[in-house]
Amino acid sequence: MSSSRFSPALQASDLNDFIAPSQDCVVSLNKNSAASRLPIKKKQVVVSTKPPEESVKISLKDCLACSGCITSAETVMLEKQSLDDFVTRINSGKTVIVSVSPQSRASLAAFFGLSQSQVFRKLTALFKSMGVKAVYDTSSSRDLALIEACNEFISRYKLSQLSSNKEVGTSLPVLSSACPGWICYAEKTLGSYILPYISSVKSPQQVIGAAIKHHMVEKLGLKPYDVYHVTVMPCYDKKLEAVRGDFVFSVEEKEVTEVDSVLTTGEVLDLIQSKSVDFKTMEESPLDRLLTNVDDDGHLYGVSGGSGGYAETIFRYAARALFNREIEGPLDFKVLRNSDFREVTLEVEGSPVLKFALCYGFRNLQNIVRKVKMGKCEYQFIEVMACPSVV
Ligand code: SF4
Repeated sequence: MSSSRFSPALQASDLNDFIAPSQDCVVSLNKNSAASRLPIKKKQVVVSTKPPEESVKISLKDCLACSGCITSAETVMLEKQSLDDFVTRINSGKTVIVSVSPQSRASLAAFFGLSQSQVFRKLTALFKSMGVKAVYDTSSSRDLALIEACNEFISRYKLSQLSSNKEVGTSLPVLSSACPGWICYAEKTLGSYILPYISSVKSPQQVIGAAIKHHMVEKLGLKPYDVYHVTVMPCYDKKLEAVRGDFVFSVEEKEVTEVDSVLTTGEVLDLIQSKSVDFKTMEESPLDRLLTNVDDDGHLYGVSGGSGGYAETIFRYAARALFNREIEGPLDFKVLRNSDFREVTLEVEGSPVLKFALCYGFRNLQNIVRKVKMGKCEYQFIEVMACPSVV
């Protein structure tokens, strides 16, 4: 897999931050076989030389993100969410809807030297020329996720203030849940002690998936299983998120997935470059307004930032809702041990009342989860992202 397909975040030069492939995969495909304890790539080799009694299938759902595959070997298993599959689906008779993330728009805008708005209009034109029914913007679902995350924080904060409340799962800190790389690592490597702290709010990708498959389909006069929903995301791990069982439901005994396929920014760039059009000069289409953050003048809006702005949005909201403090201007995040670990504090009458942190990259998140485990975490909310240098 060419590294050029990865988002700028995944091309970060500090690759030593990722956990090196070192652990055995523990997917239990054949309990009696030594193959069951080998990394997936090795396991495939062993299985092929000594066929098991039953055929073995490995899907994305089996990936434990146990080591290096969190950022590399998982690509071996992604054929079902590939560009080729997307092109095939467009011609399969299903209604295809595409939802584009603001991070992908921004990357393509930088690549082509265009504005984000121009990129979005050109992408809309390109996808619709291929037969896509509608193109939406996940800034709108990010807003919904942020509103939910604010409400969740306030309710968990209030619960934590009750001296009688010692229940796990209602206590602080709240750890953000929008990064699938971090969630995969937490679920499959850290164990149950950390899970109650993780926010229960869906990521923007899955919020728009639910909105389309549960609500938009009715407006379009379709059944959820008639719609093939594709997202454009900055990150391969979003493909892992899309195939989680949590995001599959049943309609008329048919299995429906909120997000059927995820294309990375790099894959969309491949698509653009495979067309005999000059993307920079190609015609632009009007935007589909229903699930897109676009104002009356045609300008896109939404919370900026590659991380989704969770810490910042919740901090401002909590300052207002809990302490009646309106914070003007940018938040004063202080860099701690490195630029991927920063904190912001709200003081009232000289005492700290809110303390949030940004924690990016595996080195930093391993330190923070150790503190949470020992009950020594001083933060009430931590925006956790698996990759370093998220801006
Ligand atoms: S920080 Fe998380 S969401 Fe962002 S690119 Fe890395 S794994 Fe993907």
